[in-house]
Amino acid sequence: MSNGINFAFLDEYAKREIRRSVIKAICIPGYQVPYSSREMPMGRGFGTGGLQLTLALIGANDSLKVIDQGSDDSVNAVNLRKFVEMTCPGIDTTTRLQEATLIQSRHRIPENSLRADQILVLQVPYPDALVIVEPSEDKRKIMHSEADYSRLLVKLYEDIVKFDEITISHRYPTRINGHYIIDPSPIPRYDVPKLHNSNALILFGAGREKKIYAVPPHCSAEPLAFDDVPFRVENFTDSHGERRACKQCGSRESFLDEFIDEQGERVYQCSDSDYCEQQQELARG
Ligand SMILES: [Zn+2]
Repeated sequence: MSNGINFAFLDEYAKREIRRSVIKAICIPGYQVPYSSREMPMGRGFGTGGLQLTLALIGANDSLKVIDQGSDDSVNAVNLRKFVEMTCPGIDTTTRLQEATLIQSRHRIPENSLRADQILVLQVPYPDALVIVEPSEDKRKIMHSEADYSRLLVKLYEDIVKFDEITISHRYPTRINGHYIIDPSPIPRYDVPKLHNSNALILFGAGREKKIYAVPPHCSAEPLAFDDVPFRVENFTDSHGERRACKQCGSRESFLDEFIDEQGERVYQCSDSDYCEQQQELARG
């Protein structure tokens, strides 16, 4: 590159190391592969793990979509997209899910299903689901290898005893391929079933914690639950038992964000802005 920065910012050795870690992560679904997370020109916690995956994977003919909580326009998404545009000359970026080959996301999985030729990269703050029950990483590694998740199940059981239900709203522990339990990043429960049998490869990058893990395509992903207390997603029904609709596009099938408008009214809107716009376009005909 003319400005002296390597294509996609990272040096070629770093990209190769990340790609090798990705291959290992795909081979052992749900296993947290350690890697030497690089310093990026932004604070850890701003998606550096996801960004390093994106930069190691992006190449000619790729089209990148970056979303934060479902929106292409939030500050985090805009800045990450700008950084990729700056350091990857010739790469296309898009807000349309259908046009994207690579999707980097924080806190959401897109509303519409992904295709087999797409890769979803999720930014992860805390990669280990066991961290809430075991502070020692050495011990957690042994528990993962033995698929010993009894303490996690006890934690869920305690929730049921105290609150009559499992209260975890985000980062819901999910068993991948019948063995490793992952922290699926702070996606809502609504998105957890989308991990199961996905067409697309889903990658997780934790920059600060230096871990990469994967849910390969057509792999099982089961949210942890009990036979008599099954897993359930957020429900968007009103007091009359009717499913709430998005105020912009009218969809009754999407994950909704709730906020208060200027009149002080409680209103609901699709969290996936691209999905919402496309629904509105369809309605206009
Ligand atoms: Zn909508």
